[in-house]
Amino acid sequence: MNIAFLGLGAMGYPMAANLSRNHEVIVWNRTAEVARRHASEHGTRFAESLEQCAGAPVVISIVPTSSEVAELAQILSGAGLQSGALWIDMTSGDPHTSRTIASDLQAKGVSFVDAPVTGGTPGAEAGTLTIMIGGAEEDFERAREICASMGTRIVHVGAIGAGHAVKAVNNAMLAANMWVAAEGLLSLQTLGLDLEKALEVINSGSGRSNASENLLPSRIIGGAWPLTFKLALLDKDVRIAASLAHSQHLATPMIGLTSTLFTAALKDLGMGADYMEVAKFVSSLNRARWPGEKSS
Ligand code: NDP
Repeated sequence: MNIAFLGLGAMGYPMAANLSRNHEVIVWNRTAEVARRHASEHGTRFAESLEQCAGAPVVISIVPTSSEVAELAQILSGAGLQSGALWIDMTSGDPHTSRTIASDLQAKGVSFVDAPVTGGTPGAEAGTLTIMIGGAEEDFERAREICASMGTRIVHVGAIGAGHAVKAVNNAMLAANMWVAAEGLLSLQTLGLDLEKALEVINSGSGRSNASENLLPSRIIGGAWPLTFKLALLDKDVRIAASLAHSQHLATPMIGLTSTLFTAALKDLGMGADYMEVAKFVSSLNRARWPGEKSS
């Protein structure tokens, strides 16, 4: 199958590489050089212009937010996107904008599913992502076969927008877990306790989370702070979760507080920061440092 893949960032680059093992893939990226490199490394076809992707029967997008997806969809619609084509949006987007994009595409005979992913860059590289899909049953079935090249768990979670809603709530839970784990561990460190021993207990106990098991130890103790997922993107996800709850008139103070805290951390750490650097923000609020923080 011919597939146009738009957006070769930290996630899209390895996802398109995995997809190209089973499909003919034409890649487009805003910074063209990245797409050219992808073509030479993975045997994909490099699109000189976005319009060159309009003839593909399947289009996949994974860009920062739904606003960029809307812009891409508008340009490709104008460039002659085919009736009967399927658009699979793997961005962590927002349900409301996705429903608008879907209805604009529908007017051209193009189907849309939202299909955000979880599993991070390791999952994108290994092809083991979990993919949550919102859309009509028949579109889900078409998307599932294609997504199988990028993920191992592919779940139809509801109508258009449902994938984005589940993803936003998942990431709000991730963010809250990260923050509380950082606060708790900082308090144990300040008591003079050994963090490795404390984590050994917590990670075999009921307080464990992905943050305490997999994300925090290599950073706060090991001192490795890679950039894998921009804090700005997680901040966006938590804001989507907060606005979903707000739109349903729900009282959700934890999600609201998490959103406020992440926005404060983003303002302090800057747009280039990795999401796990919030642990540094938590330590700096308390004029403390983790063992894995450089003393510069
Ligand atoms: P990156 O910042 O690494 O990549 C963003 C991509 O979008 C790049 O290809 C970039 O192009 C492109 N882009 C940015 N702005 C525009 C624009 N205005 N028009 C067209 N293309 C644009 O992001 P990630 O790959 O990390 O994330 C992509 C999506 O996946 C986000 O929604 C994120 O929340 C989600 N996600 C990320 C995870 C992660 O661990 N990183 C995990 C799960 C989901 P250029 O090269 O020109 O900058």
